[in-house]
Amino acid sequence: SPSRSSVIIVGAGVSGIAAAKVLAENGIEDFMILEASDRIGGRIRKESFGGVSVELGAGWIAGVGGEKSNPAWELANKSGLRTCFSDYSNARYNIYDTRYPNPYPYPCPRATVTCARFSVFFKISFSFLFSVLLAGYGVNRTEFAERVVLFCVVCYSGKIIPRKLANELYKQAVDSAKEKMDSAIRSLRSQESNNRGCGGGDVSRVTEPPLEDPVCTPRTAFEHAFDFLLHDFEMAEKSNPAWELANKSGLRTCFSDYSNARYNIYDTSGKIIPRKLANELYKKAVDSAKEKMDSAIRSLRSQESNNRGCGGGDVSRVTEPPLEDPVCTPRTAFEHAFDFLLHDFEMAEVEPISTFVDFGEREFLVADERGYEHLLYKMAEEFLFTSEGKILDSRLQLNKVVRELQHSRNGVTVTTEDGCVYEANYLILSVSIGVLQSDLISFRPSLPRWKMEAIQTCEVMVYTKIFLKFPHKFWPCGPGKEFFMYAHERRGYYTFWQHMENAFPGSNILVVTLTNGESKRVEAQSEEETLKEAMGVLKNMFGPNIPNATDILVPRWYKNRFQRGSYSNYPIISNNQLVHNIKAPVGRIFFTGEHTSEQFSGYVHGGYLAGIDTSKTLLEEIRKERKTENQNHLLE
Ligand code: FAD
Repeated sequence: SPSRSSVIIVGAGVSGIAAAKVLAENGIEDFMILEASDRIGGRIRKESFGGVSVELGAGWIAGVGGEKSNPAWELANKSGLRTCFSDYSNARYNIYDTRYPNPYPYPCPRATVTCARFSVFFKISFSFLFSVLLAGYGVNRTEFAERVVLFCVVCYSGKIIPRKLANELYKQAVDSAKEKMDSAIRSLRSQESNNRGCGGGDVSRVTEPPLEDPVCTPRTAFEHAFDFLLHDFEMAEKSNPAWELANKSGLRTCFSDYSNARYNIYDTSGKIIPRKLANELYKKAVDSAKEKMDSAIRSLRSQESNNRGCGGGDVSRVTEPPLEDPVCTPRTAFEHAFDFLLHDFEMAEVEPISTFVDFGEREFLVADERGYEHLLYKMAEEFLFTSEGKILDSRLQLNKVVRELQHSRNGVTVTTEDGCVYEANYLILSVSIGVLQSDLISFRPSLPRWKMEAIQTCEVMVYTKIFLKFPHKFWPCGPGKEFFMYAHERRGYYTFWQHMENAFPGSNILVVTLTNGESKRVEAQSEEETLKEAMGVLKNMFGPNIPNATDILVPRWYKNRFQRGSYSNYPIISNNQLVHNIKAPVGRIFFTGEHTSEQFSGYVHGGYLAGIDTSKTLLEEIRKERKTENQNHLLE
């Protein structure tokens, strides 16, 4: 017979483990954690590579040093995790291009260009003199010419661009990203205000409605009436200067209570509709107007995030760029590089990100042989039976792939791929948004439409760290050199690099980060091909004589059927309704995971706080249910 518990938790990532811990702390001990893979941690995952322990998933504790303390930072400190500070801000100064000298793509300040040109002139003269010196060591003319060419190639291919110029270009990129963001918001607003009169106001729009009309599509006569009231009558809340003038001039006025209009509504037969019904209909109209507004925002956001990959990202979008592209139209290699840095690395310079606003702007890289996951084992130890660092508690079941969730008013039945059946009163589902979007788990009955729509609307970011091991290092180390970028005509093409010397000195490992379309492309090809591409890029940056990598590691988060991507990507303009719907329970199924965190989605602390939050909501529900049961008993 199926095993029965109070609560089943699906998934043993940080949110699932945090959720279970809260249940245990509140007296719900008979839970069951079902995890598809053979380990806990989910997207927190280490692997041995090149003699050290590298993080395939979460690597940083992001948001440290602010007024509030980041719970992930607290957990890391508590579990004694070794971390090191990452200064991303340097990346913008360590930017290489394919060839040098470069025809400056930007209108830069004259002084900067002169300075950069001077430095080119200096380098050419220097290499010429050096070649002449070499010629003095008895080489013939052809050899001499060859050496001059080689020198020029070595000296000028992939040279790092001057710091001042890099700073200029970066500032321009930030300004342009901000401008694009503002223009996107402006366009949304004007779309919204154009739509205000639909079905009324502007006659041209009555006969020829706009093709896409997400904000206003009333259908019935009542809907039209309320829509008109809601959109074409603006109830001002600030003090109106005309009111002030009217008062000053002693004009006679009398109060008009517009709010009554909604109760005095006649249909064509001249009947006034009952007050209660009118109120109902009005509320519905308000909800629907809000929903339409949200949907307009969503469409803008998805347009914005689709455009993130323009010129690179999603290959389909490279060949067929969106017609209107208000957010992202980078053109040059430098623009692509900065665009990637600003958008795909969530640099808080374009728009505020809660993680950095609340917890501080610093980021610490986990550099611990025990891995980031050590923090999770420490957490699990507090409520699961463990011995010698291993979890031996039978309430944690590994290799249990949940395939079906049957739910009713009485409980939930779970069927796993190996045919096991589990029953519980409630279920906490912590699988990623990518898994929810896939067909891995079927729901019986299916999830309601609002839920499915919300799940499908949320975007999934793919973020891939590729590790390369070398026999020795050939890249600059020392202060301010940990991160460097490669400017290429194709957006996101091996753009963002990091050396691991700060984290693991002497490891001779480089990491390059790809996202979205580039991640998917690389996931689909062989490691040899990826290695060849990466080496080509490195040779462009550091010259043809660098050693080949001896090993490569390419995580495949998108292909992984238990992940289907790296993390949720709620677009920038906030829309609480979407995350609210993704998070909202359906009957006895409670949703958790980083994607359900209103403020910190996409982060470890987001997953952790979401797990706690969901369990608290469930505990409240259990309390309510028990109270009703007790009352029913008393009545009997
Ligand atoms: P998960 O960790 O995905 O847990 C869900 C679990 O459900 C998984 O273990 C999965 O195996 C299991 N599961 C899935 N399907 C089933 C099924 N059908 N049956 C049973 N079990 C199932 N965050 C940061 O804070 N800093 C970073 O630097 C950072 N970098 C990242 C880099 C990468 C490459 C990735 C992938 C993520 C990164 N993140 C980072 C995000 C962070 O890792 C996640 O936000 C967090 O770990 C998510 O935890 P979770 O519990 O919500 O989900």
